[in-house]
Amino acid sequence: MSLTGPYDPDNIFAKILRGEIPAVKVWEDDHVLAFMDVFPQSEGHVLVISKTSQARNLLEVELEVLTRLTAAVHRTARAVDRALTPDGLSIMQFNGEAGGQTVFHLHVHIIPRWADRPMKGHGHAPMAEAANLRPIAERIAAALDPG
Ligand code: AMP
Repeated sequence: MSLTGPYDPDNIFAKILRGEIPAVKVWEDDHVLAFMDVFPQSEGHVLVISKTSQARNLLEVELEVLTRLTAAVHRTARAVDRALTPDGLSIMQFNGEAGGQTVFHLHVHIIPRWADRPMKGHGHAPMAEAANLRPIAERIAAALDPG
């Protein structure tokens, strides 16, 4: 997938937004959804997406959508920090297949980091059970700043 081209309405995040496949949600409003990455690169790996935009990547996104998405990333990252007390946080975002992107609906990764635990490689982490992700999502949700 190059940086240009049509949005695929059947990409996996579009299916999550339509409720066609399950996701472990952290929080959502009318504009954004934060949910657990099912192949977490570390404990507490969260993805944040727009519910309204069909931007595949950062280059395509409408600025008002980016503003809301960035605010959602900020709110979620603060909650991840409070809930899980990592030593650091990697905020990552990939554009185009050659840029490391695998799902072509714009999204931002929030990945907690601990000094003594190596982060798993992007696209190389094992799948997590929803039952294990749910309590982490609940802890993060409980630590959110008021919306
Ligand atoms: P990227 O490679 O930046 O496009 O990131 C896509 C992310 O989506 C990867 O970190 C995957 O682990 C994650 N992912 C793929 N399928 C699902 C799914 N069904 N639910 C949650 N996360 C997913």
